[in-house]
Amino acid sequence: MNKIEALVRPNIRILSPYSTARDECQGTPDIFLDANESPYPGIGYNRYPDPRQKALKQRISAIKGLPVENIFLGNGSDEAIDLMFRIFCTPGQDNAVAIVPSYGMYTVAADINDVKVRGVQLGADFSLPVDELFAAADANTKLLFLCSPNNPSGNAFEPAQLLDLIQRFPGIVVLDEAYADFSAKGSLRHKVLEFPNLVVLQTFSKAYGMAGLRLGLAFANAYVTDLMNRVKYPYNISQAAQEAAFRALEAPVQDKVEEIVAQRARLAGTLPSFPFVKKVWPSDANFLLVQVDDPDRLYGHLLSDGIIVRNRSRQPLCAGCLRLTVGTPRENDNLLQSLSRYE
Ligand SMILES: *Cc1c(COP(=O)(O)O)cnc(C)c1O
Repeated sequence: MNKIEALVRPNIRILSPYSTARDECQGTPDIFLDANESPYPGIGYNRYPDPRQKALKQRISAIKGLPVENIFLGNGSDEAIDLMFRIFCTPGQDNAVAIVPSYGMYTVAADINDVKVRGVQLGADFSLPVDELFAAADANTKLLFLCSPNNPSGNAFEPAQLLDLIQRFPGIVVLDEAYADFSAKGSLRHKVLEFPNLVVLQTFSKAYGMAGLRLGLAFANAYVTDLMNRVKYPYNISQAAQEAAFRALEAPVQDKVEEIVAQRARLAGTLPSFPFVKKVWPSDANFLLVQVDDPDRLYGHLLSDGIIVRNRSRQPLCAGCLRLTVGTPRENDNLLQSLSRYE
């Protein structure tokens, strides 16, 4: 048994997955009487979708520069996060380590799966606490969750530091790159070919503008993507989502990403001039973490102007902080106007 196999829950290692009606089919039939579907097309969704999303994955493979076998598609990244616990952690026994503060779904998915998360606080400047992460791990630690650029702090960690961690960590390292498109530090997804314990998560919900479709990506060693495919619901990505994403991916997103990055710089430059703004944290993402005098009152003021932001002031290391997503130039104009009316 290799090192990765040894990390997998014993019942998952030997799981025989559900075989869909069309998995077994060899030829190219044109009359489908195998899956108890309706023969009437209606609005075009009478057939079950491709459980392995072959066409969409080929397009993603070309865009992301990784083979299809190293790509998993989920119903949002949230599905991939949940699968990590279901595949690697025996409930009530195994544990995961995660940075704090970070994305809330790591802990929610862990709680649902009855897995303890050992949270390790980032440094006061949101730096990566490498030694503390190792110290938190024990023989039952299967997963380490890292997020870069991190939500809600916005900073990306140094690739060399992440690679050192991935190389030395005894379990699976899940690196959440939901915001990597906005970062000059780029992505480590290609490193899954080198490190079998690395799982990189990305999403079509942020830079790609498809949050409503629910499409998350995981890049990993082919053994791990195969486990994910066995454990997922057979038809986890709807036909509508597969088709819409396939079409949407014809258009590059680079110009929109550049506009958001430029607007991020504009907001980061302007916000400190308001007297109630104490700090704007540097951001490699499409949001800014901003420390203000009275976050609850400012949150209420913005809401009364029809602008909703995320109040993160009760998160560790985030006292006084609101998280502002970068909008269109006009939306950002409105935000700044509302702030100039605040007193
Ligand atoms: C928004 C976000 C995601 C995306 O989740 P989806 O389920 O793909 O929409 C993943 N990770 C982090 C850290 C995020 O902030």
